[in-house]
Amino acid sequence: MTDRELIDMAVEAAKNAYAPYSHQRVGAALECADGTVFTGCTVENAALGATVCAERAAVCNAVNAGRRRFRRIALYSRESADYLTPCGSCRQVLTEFSPEIEVLCVRSDGRYVSYRLRELLPLMFSKEKFE
Ligand code: ZN
Repeated sequence: MTDRELIDMAVEAAKNAYAPYSHQRVGAALECADGTVFTGCTVENAALGATVCAERAAVCNAVNAGRRRFRRIALYSRESADYLTPCGSCRQVLTEFSPEIEVLCVRSDGRYVSYRLRELLPLMFSKEKFE
């Protein structure tokens, strides 16, 4: 799967986002190690702490289906003129399963930049700390 195909899946996922508070409808497409792709979208809540980001929704969908190793994730929001990066909580959740994952941060015009999660979360706190 190309980067563009993965991004297109994130664009589709964003259409289902529920974001009445931030008005930033985010979609994520998560590619697993076996090539399977799971998507997620933002699900906000009036109690803002209960909000689930698109990235975490995609991870939960993948884990629910038995996948725990991921290669890439694409993030998209039509409302983001800047490159969309994951929040701190999502960076931490991605670290749990795939600290080497590639993160495609997409702008509303479709251009994107790629980072390794380790670049976005240096000195990450990971499960290796418990070994
Ligand atoms: Zn997040």
